[in-house]
Amino acid sequence: TRQIQLTARPHGEPAPTDFRTVETELPAPGAGEVLVRNTFLSVDPYMRGRMNDTKSYVPPYALDAPMEGGAVGEVVESNDDSLSPGDTVLHMAGWREHAVLPASAARRIDTSAIPASAYLGVLGMPGLTAYVGLTRVAEMKEGDVVFVSGAAGAVGSLAGQMARHLGASKVIGSAGTPEKVRWLTEELGFDAAFDYHDGPVGKQLREHGPIDVYFDNVGGEHLEAAISNLNDFGRVAACGAIASYNATEAPAGPRNMMMLVQKRLMLRGFIVSDHAEAAGEFYRRAGQWVADGELVARETVSDGLDSTVDAFLGLLSGRNTGKMIVRL
Ligand code: NDP
Repeated sequence: TRQIQLTARPHGEPAPTDFRTVETELPAPGAGEVLVRNTFLSVDPYMRGRMNDTKSYVPPYALDAPMEGGAVGEVVESNDDSLSPGDTVLHMAGWREHAVLPASAARRIDTSAIPASAYLGVLGMPGLTAYVGLTRVAEMKEGDVVFVSGAAGAVGSLAGQMARHLGASKVIGSAGTPEKVRWLTEELGFDAAFDYHDGPVGKQLREHGPIDVYFDNVGGEHLEAAISNLNDFGRVAACGAIASYNATEAPAGPRNMMMLVQKRLMLRGFIVSDHAEAAGEFYRRAGQWVADGELVARETVSDGLDSTVDAFLGLLSGRNTGKMIVRL
């Protein structure tokens, strides 16, 4: 069976040569363990941060060891009463074809009505991130004008649609191509959207604002623009700053931080894993939205383990619309 390992810590943009594919023999599952054949792998922006040898909320990836990440697979062999062969499970031993792992590290998922890959996207970590960011972090209220950056990505596309279902009076999105911008307004129900390549973000946002809530996936110029366009008592959910993930120098900070004082703004960062408390409520509500066809959950799918590195690099450069997934 094959797995992908990180062989060098990328400087700036990762290169295919920072990874290698290794053929390995897996041990037979021991007591309490299961053997899983992976069917879908997730690639996510946070993985870029884990490739650096720096202290963060998750430890760095080890070199010359299998990469890790969200994955869905089928139990092939089980030495634990809680799981049986044929069960579909969600776990973190991704970037490989098969995994042996403790049964306690795999969660059985119900695929009778929902496709397995949804547990890596709309009903998984990205969906919960969007929901928590709006409801717990930005404390979004009915009537708010909400701006979402990275709006055609996994988290952003869901955050924008959820904001509408939660009663936003207007949802504005930014994304990196004209096709993505059209998708936001024509299929996802965003009220307005723009391509951040078309001119200064602050100027483009001003045409659609002012805003009450900013869901920040990008940071940098986007954050500065949002601060300038927020109403008094506006709120920012700082979810990510993908504009700087490949940066080799610290980005310039927003130059308008005094506006936090003048407009009594709140800017709050969050990590989805701290919000397990919201998971039950999220699954109930998002599950209903999905069942009712009120949440469009697009995936960009690449095929085969050999496409994983390319899918990850593509994610960082905007080749995905919706959730980037690898199908094995
Ligand atoms: P996406 O599906 O949004 O993929 C990343 C997207 O980022 C690309 O498609 C690209 O789209 C955009 N992008 C890349 N470079 C830039 C740039 N320089 N400026 C603006 N946009 C850029 O990924 P996710 O939905 O998984 O993640 C979105 C954000 O949420 C990330 O910042 C991620 O780190 C964060 N996140 C945070 C979590 C938390 O707990 N706080 C949990 C999960 C995700 P485009 O074509 O529009 O440029």
